[in-house]
Amino acid sequence: AHTLVLRDVVFRYSPDATPALDGVSLTIPRRGHTAIVGPSGAGKTTIFSLLLKFFRPEHGEIQLDGRPFSQWTLDDLRGRIAYVEQDTPLIPGTLRENLTYAAPDTDESALWRALEAVRMDERARTLPDGLDTDVTASTLSGGERQRIAVARALVADPELLLLDEVTAQLDGLTEAAVAEGIRRQASRGAVVTIAHRLSTVMDADQIIVLEAGRVRAVGSHTALLATD
Ligand code: ADP
Ligand code: ADP
Repeated sequence: AHTLVLRDVVFRYSPDATPALDGVSLTIPRRGHTAIVGPSGAGKTTIFSLLLKFFRPEHGEIQLDGRPFSQWTLDDLRGRIAYVEQDTPLIPGTLRENLTYAAPDTDESALWRALEAVRMDERARTLPDGLDTDVTASTLSGGERQRIAVARALVADPELLLLDEVTAQLDGLTEAAVAEGIRRQASRGAVVTIAHRLSTVMDADQIIVLEAGRVRAVGSHTALLATD
């Protein structure tokens, strides 16, 4: 069972700083969509940084599959975890190379399914060389590159998909499509999204409200609205 557990995790960026995470405990089940919401500075991105091993907790523990996270090497985690942030860079190369970056053997139909999930299939068809077009800032807008980054993560089909505010700059229709892509991926593995507002993560299975480095509430959307 690929369950991820944080227990009483404390982290600060410098010894005399206020903790960015101040005793965070949470469980991310092996399947389903967990959303972390909270105001700017709450510590949402810091949680992702720990899960990507950019930093280690100064106190508390993280466990993946019942094993201390410190025992997992970056090699172990590669292929299991995918991460997309607001400005995830594309690699210099073609659309196909970007989509198959982490999963070279993906078949063509899976690539198009991932493009559909981010509403980029039409756009990809109209590019001069389709999937073999070089994708640069001149062929794709920032929002389009963002969607390709999400599609690439969906193609990788990771056990844990971390999405940091990836729908913030998308229009409503595209956001709804990406939400559907997230829902589908959440039936295969764990998806954790970061969002500013509760309204954008209505269909998450679990919502964790973070404030000033502490978990303020955990529950479904309806449960949280009822207690608000
Ligand atoms: P959120 O993602 O919820 O906006 P962050 O995890 O980015 O919050 O930040 C949590 C706290 O840690 C904030 O007080 C922020 O200023 C601080 N912080 C974030 N990144 C750094 C950093 N690289 N160096 C120092 N402090 C940081
Ligand atoms: P969209 O309208 O699809 O949301 P954006 O508003 O994100 O597009 O981007 C507008 C323009 O700014 C685009 O032409 C894009 O090429 C450029 N742009 C956005 N983000 C970046 C970036 N990180 N690097 C280079 N150019 C960018």
